[in-house]
Amino acid sequence: MNIQAIIKKAVKRLELEGKLLTPDFYAEAFCKEAAKAGFATEDCSKLDKFSASLNKEFQDELKKYHITNISELSRFLISKLNRTNPSHCANLLESQSVFTKRVLQVVEVLHNKEAAELAKRSLELLNREHSVAEIDQFRQLWVNFITTYDDTFLQKLKALGSVDGYDLKKTIENLNLTNLCDKPLGSLELSTIASLLISSLTPSIASSVNEKIADISQRIKKNPQLLESASVESEIRSAIALRIALDKQSVKEMIESIDGVLDKLSSRLIEMIESSDNSTAEIQKIKKELDSYNEKTITNFSIAHKKIYAIAVALEENTQALTSDLKKHSSEVSALSKKIEHLEQELQRAKEESKEDFLTKLYNKRALDELMNIKEAEFERYEHNFAIVFFDLDYFKSVNDTYGHDAGDAVLVAFAKILKNEARTVDIVGRFGGEEFIAVLGETDVKGGVMFAEKVRNKIKTTRMMYKDNQIKLTVSCGVSDRVSNFSLQSLIKSADENLYKAKKEGRDRVVYK
Ligand code: GH3
Ligand code: MG
Ligand code: MG
Repeated sequence: MNIQAIIKKAVKRLELEGKLLTPDFYAEAFCKEAAKAGFATEDCSKLDKFSASLNKEFQDELKKYHITNISELSRFLISKLNRTNPSHCANLLESQSVFTKRVLQVVEVLHNKEAAELAKRSLELLNREHSVAEIDQFRQLWVNFITTYDDTFLQKLKALGSVDGYDLKKTIENLNLTNLCDKPLGSLELSTIASLLISSLTPSIASSVNEKIADISQRIKKNPQLLESASVESEIRSAIALRIALDKQSVKEMIESIDGVLDKLSSRLIEMIESSDNSTAEIQKIKKELDSYNEKTITNFSIAHKKIYAIAVALEENTQALTSDLKKHSSEVSALSKKIEHLEQELQRAKEESKEDFLTKLYNKRALDELMNIKEAEFERYEHNFAIVFFDLDYFKSVNDTYGHDAGDAVLVAFAKILKNEARTVDIVGRFGGEEFIAVLGETDVKGGVMFAEKVRNKIKTTRMMYKDNQIKLTVSCGVSDRVSNFSLQSLIKSADENLYKAKKEGRDRVVYK
């Protein structure tokens, strides 16, 4: 088959389908005929090729809007481009750059000459005009710095003991450099012993620092040679005895406080057992045992251990009693949960069968689809024309954002009321979803549809909508089309939707019908 034959067939096809010979319809018909004749034409697969290079989200939108040719695709992309917000990226970049500068300023004052120098140079780079290649070069310099950074000196310091490799300040304090430099070797050893001794004198459990210990520690610290005198030896002995006494006292106080807690715990448990109607001999025994411990004060760990053990046994018994109780009730619970499951299923079914929008009480999407199909059947059989109007509230998201979701809901209900009032009883009005509504007007053409849409648009604009103490201003955009101007119900819906889209693009608060 040659190209002329395909052209003829394409024209024929348009005639059969009752379509006009517009460039778009012709291109569509030509591609179909070319494909049938086994011709692969570059032009026909252009749309598929372009759409395949978009991301998934855009591809879904193309399907949703029934985009079938290149000119529709361009319109779609232009509208997307008009909606992008370049200032967002610029703000983000700006704050990232400020953040990077702050980090570099901090590094610049740290005690590492190489890092500080590199930070200084990086800052200079960021503060003047720079190229991507320069940024890359500095990134590489930072990578070099961190890969050649030598911290073995920290490991050496660690080997000397009482040194924290991650905290340079503490490490330097611990080094006691003046002693290391000024004193002969003998006193060096003494200073090590002195620091060990001081840490052994500090009370390990008791938190209060005894004055005597503090005083002797201070003196030894200042002059490690004191350790060689006999009088200091006896002083140290008595300081050690004092430290042991302080620790013992601390332990005693701790046990007493544990005892207080245990007392509270056991009396609470007794209350619990008494309030439950469980009076088995076993539990009574435990109760008596707990009572007996309440009379004594704990002074050593073995009594505390016994007491805790008795409480644990009592708890276990009580839990077992509760578990058996629970088992008894479990059959009742499972019967009830089955009942709930059944009720939930019924609720779900009722929801699925419902034709009413729960919020506005208008027809919901399911009902609207059914009713439009009936209108379509009437058109096909009796040629009864009908019009549809798509309504979409303008900037509705900002109502939610400013006054809250409840205010948004109240506005939707108010709009539904207006729509219902303005429509005739034979007209069909419903909520298509979110803040989108639709009117299906029987025996009405585009002109009539536009009149209706204008009526609703003006009404909304002049209505004082109050929510709590706020007056909410609202406008609506409308897209209109009628059945005779379209080839199918589907193309009617598409055309009304496109008109709505135009109304939004052209500035909102308007009715568009072509
Ligand atoms: P435009 O003028 O472009 O139509 O802007 P818009 O803000 O009206 O449109 P957009 O689609 O960005 O936002 C619609 C909002 O409607 C977002 C959604 O949270 C809100 N919405 C949808 N359904 C409900 C609902 O049942 N109740 C409430 N309160 N808000 C809803
Ligand atoms: Mg919307
Ligand atoms: Mg909207």
